[in-house]
Amino acid sequence: MSEASYAPPVRRLMTELAKLPGVGNRTAQRLAFHILRAPTEDAVGLAEAITEVKEKISLCEVCFNLTDEARCRICQDTRRDERMICVVEEPSDVIPMERTHEYHGVYHVLGGALSPIDGVDPEDLKIAELLERVAAAEGAGERVREVVLATNPTTTGEATALHIAELLRERSPELTVTRLASGLPVGSDLEYADEVTLGKAFAGRRAL
Ligand SMILES: [Zn+2]
Repeated sequence: MSEASYAPPVRRLMTELAKLPGVGNRTAQRLAFHILRAPTEDAVGLAEAITEVKEKISLCEVCFNLTDEARCRICQDTRRDERMICVVEEPSDVIPMERTHEYHGVYHVLGGALSPIDGVDPEDLKIAELLERVAAAEGAGERVREVVLATNPTTTGEATALHIAELLRERSPELTVTRLASGLPVGSDLEYADEVTLGKAFAGRRAL
């Protein structure tokens, strides 16, 4: 049976599901049938969870992590060391760093990595915001001590780290800029690193 022969609402569901990462047409079809067979409350629960997350979750005004308040929980936590900023690509990268229990500073989420080929330029990321944040802390007499560049060990992640390191060095020569130690699988995402490997990479971070 080809997709075109399904009723339009079923086709719409399959089309939407197929947009999810890692979900091809066949998986989309299987998921759609699963949802059709599921109890109504489960299906509605899924739909409502998606709507709620889009309505209530936004980006933290300080670090651009996901939050349901103006500031995320980490930025609100007074025990965190604000003089240390860990720069990551995506909000999903904060979770593995937290799981290491090695890091007690704050974060800055870029919203991606530099990739001119894909049309991702510095102004598409929260790089200017990071520089402002470092400058504002300095102005307030709470100078940032260290910026840890924890972008992914991929070509785009490395390029992003080098670009930011250069900008920070120009503006704040006294600031220590570090990069996670190698040992992380090259070409992979932070998100998939286990906490032991990531913890070691953090402990062995090197100056850039
Ligand atoms: Zn925050």
